[in-house]
Amino acid sequence: MPAKRLSRPEQERRIDRILAALEAAYPEARCALDHADAFQLLVATILSAQCTDERVNVVTRTLFRKYRGPADYLAVPPEELERDIRTTGFFRNKARNIRGACRMIVEEYGGQVPETMENLIRLPGVARKTANVVLGVAFGKAEGIVVDTHVFRIARRLELAAGRSPEKAELDLMKAVPRKEWIGFSHRVILHGRRTCRARKPLCPGCPVEDVCRAREKMPVPAAAKTASAHRRGAPR
Ligand code: SF4
Repeated sequence: MPAKRLSRPEQERRIDRILAALEAAYPEARCALDHADAFQLLVATILSAQCTDERVNVVTRTLFRKYRGPADYLAVPPEELERDIRTTGFFRNKARNIRGACRMIVEEYGGQVPETMENLIRLPGVARKTANVVLGVAFGKAEGIVVDTHVFRIARRLELAAGRSPEKAELDLMKAVPRKEWIGFSHRVILHGRRTCRARKPLCPGCPVEDVCRAREKMPVPAAAKTASAHRRGAPR
């Protein structure tokens, strides 16, 4: 049976509760890709497609010492860059995108990473997700919400988004979540997805938003865990 439809005030209270609970549970949440500036973050984010952040950080530790700026990626033969990023997977495609982005940055943006969504998504290999990472983390600009696989899954489980594609889910989230929360929200939800609300077998007992979650995938929570979680939240005993 589908879950009861919530009234607008009920949904707003749920959202406030979810935002507060995630903030309390993951105060350390931040971008996990090592970088020193917007350009390095752009390269790292392109490399992170279908690859773990840990693996990207291993590769960029060496990569960023060898390639200092966009011109350096254009100065080597494509095969050399492919070799340097090989272990992140899909390396031919990623090398082509990085070089294409570097060329555009050099030729059209004076060597600087553009600071608007409109210009960022013109770069090869950069769609809204990557652009949102760069805008939010490097420039502190909330122009959208990063929707990766974790955010997409959890936004649907927590009924914050109904859209069946990341693009549609982002629009739903932008309506549901106050703009001042957009940047931090993505980091916290990504961490929540990695640690707790996993794709398979989510760890529902002890989940910080278990009390408001009505997901189909929710695992049964033993009564003792529910009581402990309520006490942690300061609910009346
Ligand atoms: S209760 Fe379970 S399914 Fe719901 S958000 Fe928490 S971990 Fe995910």
